[in-house]
Amino acid sequence: MLENVAVTDYAAEGKSLAKVNGKVIFIQGVVPGDVLDIQLLKNKKDWAEGRPIRFVNYSPERETPFCSHFGICGGCQWQMLPYEKQLTYKQKQVADNLERIGKLDLPGISAIIGAEETKYYRNKIEYTFGTKEFTKEKPIKEGGGKVTTPSPGIDVPEGAAGFHAKGFFDKVVDIQTCYLQAEPTNEIRLAVKEFARQNRLPFYDIRNHTGFLRTMQIRLCTTGELMVNIVVAEDDKKNIAQLMQFVEERFPAITTLLYTINRKWNDSLNDLEPAIWKGKGYVIEKLSTGSRGDEFEFKIGPKSFFQTNTRQAEKLYQVTNDFAELTGKEIVYDLYCGTGSIGIFVSKMAKKVIGVELIPAAIEDAKENAQLNHLSNTSFFAGDVIDICSDDFFAAHGKPDVIITDPPRAGMHEKLVRKILEMSAPTVVYVSCNPATQARDLSLLNEKYAVTKIQPVDMFPHTHHIENVVQLKLR
Ligand code: SAH
Repeated sequence: MLENVAVTDYAAEGKSLAKVNGKVIFIQGVVPGDVLDIQLLKNKKDWAEGRPIRFVNYSPERETPFCSHFGICGGCQWQMLPYEKQLTYKQKQVADNLERIGKLDLPGISAIIGAEETKYYRNKIEYTFGTKEFTKEKPIKEGGGKVTTPSPGIDVPEGAAGFHAKGFFDKVVDIQTCYLQAEPTNEIRLAVKEFARQNRLPFYDIRNHTGFLRTMQIRLCTTGELMVNIVVAEDDKKNIAQLMQFVEERFPAITTLLYTINRKWNDSLNDLEPAIWKGKGYVIEKLSTGSRGDEFEFKIGPKSFFQTNTRQAEKLYQVTNDFAELTGKEIVYDLYCGTGSIGIFVSKMAKKVIGVELIPAAIEDAKENAQLNHLSNTSFFAGDVIDICSDDFFAAHGKPDVIITDPPRAGMHEKLVRKILEMSAPTVVYVSCNPATQARDLSLLNEKYAVTKIQPVDMFPHTHHIENVVQLKLR
């Protein structure tokens, strides 16, 4: 154990750092200004990882988290920081990564675009029902009590309903009020929990593969459309009907109600077919281009991918669109296009848009979304970007004027970076959810491309996740 360790800076991935005898120690759940005793978890030559044992002094930067589940639920790890501070650290992360890892010649980094609404910002949320409740002792200031020690989990006869506990496959954090999605999200979860309890519909026990009620996804769109999908473990018609009738009557605001039977050991919905109980089976979300005055509709089914913060997605895509500098003449490639939302968003200002995405179901959604918006200048292709983006592909669809790329956290495959260099589109817009891999890729692109604009956007208040958009111009 190390005593009186002073946390001096924010590191990355939600961790802050302290320096003891020249060694950097990464600590989770603390902020710069905290002084505390820690236990070392890992101890390498150049760095170590520590866990809080006892707080001596809390940082003056801290504020009281508004959620009563903070510190137990793994969801909003930065609630102890005022939102302005969160934004400052995110901005700094982008700068640190691009300067340190990318070693790049950079233009000024625009001030991060924060969210106006820092609560209730998610359009999608997934709740889990379980038989084991995850509990933790709360952090104690002084007095030697151990902090944040996970309990072995307690069996709760009535079951727990909330979030799957991070790192514990069979435990559920029981939630009263969550601030991530607007009501009736909590009302629905609590009502379903109570109904199941009273009608003896047992919660799923993931260890023994027994029980009935498994998970529930709720999608609430800015259009007001509300979709609920309840996942159960057995095709028990009587129990399903009873539950569906109750939810339908109690919550008339639900526009689409579905259930899904999942007999598998895992929770993935990809290979399952949700059944519609009420409504059209999907919801419609809208994205506005802002000053340009266009509005696009997106059909979101129970298994579709869509950016989870609609208002910030609009801002992210507006930045992407601005950085693409389209005039109506350009051939635009939208790589890692998901359900086509970026491509569709920029389509009115482009000659044509070609989207590429790994998951065939997402490409089906992209095609449907293009139709829904009466677009005739978009086409979408399913497959791995490094297989699809061949010379023949570019020859068939046209030399790119603009390449928009939005890879997952791992960043782009080096083969794709090489291809982008070879294609030499005048403009590349790189949307990233991980500034570290973005920096790595930018330093490869540096061979031919100069970074000309940088705009971070905060999609997830109270979490350490960062989104960053970069414009690159061919030198
Ligand atoms: N641009 C979209 C989604 C970005 S998320 C949006 O804004 O909504 C990144 C996407 O990349 C995911 O949909 C993922 O399925 C896809 N993906 C991951 N690896 C890929 C690969 N090798 N080739 C093509 N797509 C890939």
